[in-house]
Amino acid sequence: MTDVMWHTWAGTHQARPRRTAAPGSTAQVAAAVSAAAAEDLRVRMVGTGHSFTDVAVTDGLLLSPASLTRVRSVDPAAGTATVEAGLPLCDFNEALAEHGLALANMGDIAVQTMAGAVQTGTHGTGRDAGGLAAQVVGMEMVLADGSVVECSAERDPDLFHAARVGLGAFGVVTALTMAVRPAFLLHAREEPMRLEEVLERLPELRADNDHFEFFWFPHTNNTNTKRNNISEGPARPLSPLRAWLDDDFLSNTLFERVNRVCRRFPRVVPAVNRISSRALSARGYTDASHRVFASVRNVRFVEMEYAVPAEVLPEVLREARAIVDRGGHRVSFPVEVRFAPADDVWLSTAYGRESAYVAVHMYQGTPYESYFADLEALFTSVGGRPHWGKMHTRDRSYLEGVYPMLDRALAVRDRVDPDRRFGNAYLERVLD
Ligand SMILES: Cc1cc2nc3c(=O)[nH]c(=O)nc-3n(C[C@H](O)[C@H](O)[C@H](O)COP(=O)(O)OP(=O)(O)OC[C@H]3O[C@@H](n4cnc5c(N)ncnc54)[C@H](O)[C@@H]3O)c2cc1C
Repeated sequence: MTDVMWHTWAGTHQARPRRTAAPGSTAQVAAAVSAAAAEDLRVRMVGTGHSFTDVAVTDGLLLSPASLTRVRSVDPAAGTATVEAGLPLCDFNEALAEHGLALANMGDIAVQTMAGAVQTGTHGTGRDAGGLAAQVVGMEMVLADGSVVECSAERDPDLFHAARVGLGAFGVVTALTMAVRPAFLLHAREEPMRLEEVLERLPELRADNDHFEFFWFPHTNNTNTKRNNISEGPARPLSPLRAWLDDDFLSNTLFERVNRVCRRFPRVVPAVNRISSRALSARGYTDASHRVFASVRNVRFVEMEYAVPAEVLPEVLREARAIVDRGGHRVSFPVEVRFAPADDVWLSTAYGRESAYVAVHMYQGTPYESYFADLEALFTSVGGRPHWGKMHTRDRSYLEGVYPMLDRALAVRDRVDPDRRFGNAYLERVLD
């Protein structure tokens, strides 16, 4: 047993693995997996621990991604870049920018590792551009028998389709080839809007914007909408003062203090939400895509997120609002709503259907169980699929009803990891 106590960013799960290693090459990963097999240890490479579930937790050999961070190649003509699994997304963004390239879409932070983000289906919002896994065109992996394989839509397509959002269950991903596009600017327009107006205008807001999302403030009828559209420029970033005020002070420092007060005095939450949502003012700026997509999140929270069929989103949100009021919940964190086109990644939350994502959060240390449970019942009543890296209580019996390709993915797992070398308690719940 090591002294290393690994834990998630949100403090939701800890692990004390038997051993740790930080392989610096694919060959070293293969050797580590073979050595673990000889000792009958389970194996798991972790990312930065930004999942809220125990998906990354292991009791066996914990592989750190810290020495697998190289950009192997960038091919602007082919529109691809190959990177090692542990490269942080933000470093990948910078490397791509140096080549005049960018990812088409991403989530709202960029500190995760590439493989960690892809393995749980990390996504942002987009009309045409899907989540990170939908932008993967090839993977290099070390399988349970220590062999090194490459997979893509042409080469072992079943492994490729199953293992892109693979929860670490199919092998250790050592490198990813991502589809990239010429660098682009995004014009961001943020504007408060009444919830009912957003829900009524949803078809138009989704169709007219490259990346549309909104935040609803529980206990109010107020939202903040965000429309990010590809722009010819010129770049007009936020001034350093406004960026500090909005994104550092208001979104982090002040938000942290407000949440502390709300945790202590839950009765003030509705009034606080009314005041803070009314205090929002419209703003617009134009900047490099990755700087618009991602921001810094310092306030710690727990989160559950479900993907529901996009067409049922209005009724789901209206019911969520009724549940918050009826259930006596006090929720200081806005509910985030995003969208994704259908993709072909078997275990992706957007597999085969246009999806709306509803993410609910609770400030650290605040009871969240009954709020999440009430909303989870709503999301599952419409066939929702839980984000693999965010809190949920679903097991295989539910998941096989909402993932039509789960059986095919499990057959691939039986082929590449019959002894469950890459298993852990989370996978026993959701896949076994
Ligand atoms: C503040 C915050 C904001 C977030 N924003 C978003 C968002 O906008 N959109 C969204 O969809 N999600 C979001 N998330 C969730 C987050 O993106 C995912 O949970 C993601 O998986 C975390 O990446 P990680 O590098 O921390 O991986 P970890 O959480 O450490 O690991 C995730 C999984 O990947 C596996 N894994 C890691 N590396 C490898 C490898 N090399 N080979 C095989 N398996 C591997 C792990 O074993 C584990 O199963 C957010 C989370 C936080 C805390």
